[in-house]
Amino acid sequence: MSASTKAPAGTNVLDAALRWLPVVLTAVAAAVLIAWPAITDFYSYNASYYNGIVASAAISAILTISLNMSMGYGGLLSMMHTGMQLLGGYAVAFVTVKQGLPWFLGVALAMVLGAVFSALVLAVSLRATYLYFGMITLAANLIVVEGGNAWHSVTGGVTGLVGVAPGGLGKIQFYYVTIAVAALVYVVQRNVVRSGVGRAVMAVKENPDTAAAMGIRPTRTKMLIFTLSGTIAGLAGSLYALQLGFINPDVGILDNGLVFFVGLFLGGIGTLVGPVLGVAVIATVVELIKDHARYTTLILGCTLLLAMMIIPKGIVGTWRSSRLGRPAEGEDSEPTGGLPESVLPGAVDADVPALEGRGLVKHFGGVKAVDGVDISVAAGSVHGIIGPNGSGKSTTVASLTRFLKVDSGEVLICGEPAPDKPFAVAEQGVTRVFQVPHLFEQQSVTDNVLAGMRGRERYGTLSAMLRLPRYRRREAVSRAEAAQLLAFAGLSGRAEQLAGSLSHGQKRLLEVVRAVASGPRVLILDEPATGLVPAEIDALTRLCRAFRDHGLAVVLIEHNMDFVMGVCDELTVIDSGKVIACGPPADVRADPAVLEAYLGRPDLVEDLS
Ligand code: ADP
Ligand code: MG
Repeated sequence: MSASTKAPAGTNVLDAALRWLPVVLTAVAAAVLIAWPAITDFYSYNASYYNGIVASAAISAILTISLNMSMGYGGLLSMMHTGMQLLGGYAVAFVTVKQGLPWFLGVALAMVLGAVFSALVLAVSLRATYLYFGMITLAANLIVVEGGNAWHSVTGGVTGLVGVAPGGLGKIQFYYVTIAVAALVYVVQRNVVRSGVGRAVMAVKENPDTAAAMGIRPTRTKMLIFTLSGTIAGLAGSLYALQLGFINPDVGILDNGLVFFVGLFLGGIGTLVGPVLGVAVIATVVELIKDHARYTTLILGCTLLLAMMIIPKGIVGTWRSSRLGRPAEGEDSEPTGGLPESVLPGAVDADVPALEGRGLVKHFGGVKAVDGVDISVAAGSVHGIIGPNGSGKSTTVASLTRFLKVDSGEVLICGEPAPDKPFAVAEQGVTRVFQVPHLFEQQSVTDNVLAGMRGRERYGTLSAMLRLPRYRRREAVSRAEAAQLLAFAGLSGRAEQLAGSLSHGQKRLLEVVRAVASGPRVLILDEPATGLVPAEIDALTRLCRAFRDHGLAVVLIEHNMDFVMGVCDELTVIDSGKVIACGPPADVRADPAVLEAYLGRPDLVEDLS
């Protein structure tokens, strides 16, 4: 806008340097890793020892990435990653040593076992909270280890199985295999995390209800990320056994998982590079103190403690939130353009109400929060719900969208009975924004909007993982739509900054935009205008009108009477869980019962009269 907002030339150089830094570092690291066997061969009599260290670190990195996917991105505390590593080791040992089959079949079996085991554990603990889930995985880990001890004929019992080797591959060839697999796993992690699949995972982690309101299925999403994590853990385990040459139950005990936790927290949990960096640092430290190896665990423990106290976000996370590492804050921009056609799913039948609640009842113990509410939201209208605080507006909405199970009454969406799961209601085109905002604060503004689109994206995990054409096409469309939506809301100047750094009003507006991105037929907004400045209220008004003009419906719970009276076609007034008036704003405003209900609120009486 003004000249003072232009960045000085020096900043641009710094920006460019910072942008290229990761590329340069990656290239250097790749070159060193590829040349490593030659380097060690040239400088050391003990080349295979040093090659082994790097190969082991690469395998640790694979397991740490797996842990990062479940804990960092999925929010699923896993204490069974060493157990899955053990399972993978057993798989490859069983296939090669006991069956005499090629090693890569063992690796494949390890991945399958990891996937099946993690899926089973998740299936039995779907309702568990974070901590309980951790405890269940701890138990699962013990079961694997003790199973290994007991099932002598397959696992070799306490002594385990020896002679595990990647038949046909030399040491150096196997070194390159591990490096290549680690690189591949890293790319899979990046591709998944940066796709709609990863955004869904992070949405569920942040808040399962918000995710469900956007049509994301919480259970399926958790299952997906945890199974993927298990697959990779099994893979790491198989490589570990091949590298080590043997497998025994000790590999699975939790003590041996310490190094992965330290690596993850030191590097930065929930970041892409964190696990790799953390493991690299630890591998280096362990090598440097190898003459005092008996103190290794003590030193790792202290490192974890210090890392959590001093840099709780880890090296990468701390860098990301530093002034240099985080995306620059954007500027305010004028709202421009219209809503993208694709978020307007075409007019619905104007004769059938878009959303209808009949005789809704919801009591909380003695509190009759909703006590026989009838509400009918016409397609092509903005329907306001007003009423004093605590009158049951939010509970009505939660009942309509199935976030609360009603005591009695029915809900119809476009004349059809509503499904009984919140995500299914969202899939039917009814999207709500909660009274309490839940943004994905650590994600960019654009990524927040993109998360809202997951329900409309029609590509699967495999497409995302391999960035197949199907994914690329949709991602390009999604990004274009997100840009258009942000422009419409006047937020395009802030597209790249973190959502957490927006003002309160911008956050609320962004939440509405994210809900719109899901392409709803009915958009329910619970007090969206709280804390909005006039320009943002204007954007909200335009949005509501655009929806109505396309034959869609908006349900608006609101206290700001100017806004309500200006934009609503129809009002339902609720008091103490009952509808006391319903009709066009002008009629409702004059209704004696309404004035009566508001008598305790002189401010609102003023607004109404
Ligand atoms: P409004 O949105 O109109 O301000 P709510 O629907 O949030 O009102 O609340 C209506 C009544 O139900 C209030 O008395 C509130 O305390 C009560 N209530 C809402 N949610 C719950 C709950 N989960 N458990 C118990 N009581 C609740
Ligand atoms: Mg409320």
